[in-house]
Amino acid sequence: MIGLKIFFYRLLLRISSFLGKKRKAVFLDRDGTINYDSGYVGSIADFKLFPETIPALKKLSENGFLLIIVTNQSGVGRGYFKMADVRKIHRHLEKILAKEKIYLAKIYVCPHRPDENCRCRKPRPYFFEKAVSEFNLIRKKCYSIGDKKRDIEAGKKAGIKGILLGRDFKNLVDAVEFIVNESE
Ligand SMILES: [Mg+2]
Ligand SMILES: [Zn+2]
Repeated sequence: MIGLKIFFYRLLLRISSFLGKKRKAVFLDRDGTINYDSGYVGSIADFKLFPETIPALKKLSENGFLLIIVTNQSGVGRGYFKMADVRKIHRHLEKILAKEKIYLAKIYVCPHRPDENCRCRKPRPYFFEKAVSEFNLIRKKCYSIGDKKRDIEAGKKAGIKGILLGRDFKNLVDAVEFIVNESE
């Protein structure tokens, strides 16, 4: 049932994007931004959302922002866990969120190690650019939120404003409060 809701959300999103609907989005880093970063989170057991994540994402979604996760998961490239483990965590995450009527537009994962010099690892803006064209995003109306400078740099290179947690705001709730007020 939950899986079906996620499927239809994505389908409608694809259709409306295809028809040219323009949107705004918030790009979220994963570890240390929506969930505790215990270092190379590779299993559902290690994946714990911050208490403020659900209310914060709900508020963004109610204010018309698509939610997009862009995450560097070099633990895959380092052999600590597999891409299948990452997908398992993400299915788990999407189910938790869908129960709260929160849907993610997409989760982009870079599985590479830094020394592989791939095109998709943040601070490279590859996934941000990809999302902008996939979902007809209006860059000026988008934000990226992360707990590391490279999260913000990646967005900036794609013309997207960034909020660094721990510097600009203490947590996701405060960041979201700012975004919603600014975008009114
Ligand atoms: Mg992080
Ligand atoms: Zn990559």
